[in-house]
Amino acid sequence: MTQRIYNFSAGPAVLPVEVLEEARENLLSLGNTGIGIMEHSHRGKAYLAVHEETESLCRELAGIPSDFHVLFLQGGASLQFSMVPMNLLAPGTTADYLVTGAWSQKAVIEARRCGNVRVACSSEDRNFCYIPRQCTFSPKPAYVHFTSNNTIFGTEFAGEPDIPAGAPLVCDASSDIFSRPLEIYKYGLIYAGAQKNLGPSGVTLVVIRKDLVDGAPRDLGTMLQYRTYAEDHSLYNTPPTFGIYIMGLVFKWIKKRGGLAGIARSNRDKAGKLYAYLDSFRWFRATADRDSRSMMNVTFVTGDAALDDKFIAAAKKAGLDGLKGHRSVGGMRASLYNAFPPEGVDALINVMRDFESRES
Ligand SMILES: *Cc1c(COP(=O)(O)O)cnc(C)c1O
Repeated sequence: MTQRIYNFSAGPAVLPVEVLEEARENLLSLGNTGIGIMEHSHRGKAYLAVHEETESLCRELAGIPSDFHVLFLQGGASLQFSMVPMNLLAPGTTADYLVTGAWSQKAVIEARRCGNVRVACSSEDRNFCYIPRQCTFSPKPAYVHFTSNNTIFGTEFAGEPDIPAGAPLVCDASSDIFSRPLEIYKYGLIYAGAQKNLGPSGVTLVVIRKDLVDGAPRDLGTMLQYRTYAEDHSLYNTPPTFGIYIMGLVFKWIKKRGGLAGIARSNRDKAGKLYAYLDSFRWFRATADRDSRSMMNVTFVTGDAALDDKFIAAAKKAGLDGLKGHRSVGGMRASLYNAFPPEGVDALINVMRDFESRES
């Protein structure tokens, strides 16, 4: 087999080797069924056991109580940009959005198609390199939406924003879900495309408070209502069975690592080491403000675009892939999701060190 390299991609992203190995075994035959995981009917006993187990591991890891639904959808986080306002933004009400990057901007565009939107704060003035501390909310927002981790700009909320009492908090947690313990009772709805921290692309995890599902309009298209997924246990139509299966394996892997608290420690160690190197004021510097830094996506530059490109090429030659930053920020981005191995951070720092001594 070709050797695996360090994959810093922002998404789809690295998955744990143990998960891939177990999946490989089950591609040809799930357990002793003689039928591969992708070939099982979604109504059959074998798949239903997988479906149930993924949901119950999800609840166990994040402490999700019975007044929340755990749903498996398709359409990525991007469909949630539309489904959230379709279901939660009633006529005559206003939804408040914290705009901290390109994904929140896209969420605002979709919400505006449905109703009134207020931008409660924005960090666009400095190209989204920080998390705003002050927001101006509507008197009674239908909900407040924020993006917990800004994948492109390398910033992350240290905790949930303070919002008007009674307003449901809605979070796009695509790039940091299950990277740290979750205080679920603070939320009305959390959604995440799986392909960064939870599994393959093609499945979206939605955790939603039951009363929000019950209060949503009934005249939306069937597949656009959370109710449809809630009532049929995400089995109204064929769910993304393979993705749900992998997500379950990833949950088991997280559980073995001490659950979300254990994973959070490892994430802090990985990112902490890289930021410490960047802060040693040599050639590279982090682009995000110190108090807003992401534990998942570390964005950094040399300050010279040509040198950045040279570094990315050198890193690639050394077996480090996916380090090119998003075009709106430039420079480099090291995505250090849950499954990214700590040795990969050491390897990156070594390549940076070598590069500096070679180029100076
Ligand atoms: C990747 C990403 C998205 C887009 O996800 P899709 O599943 O491709 O629609 C949305 N929000 C955030 C924060 C992301 O990181």
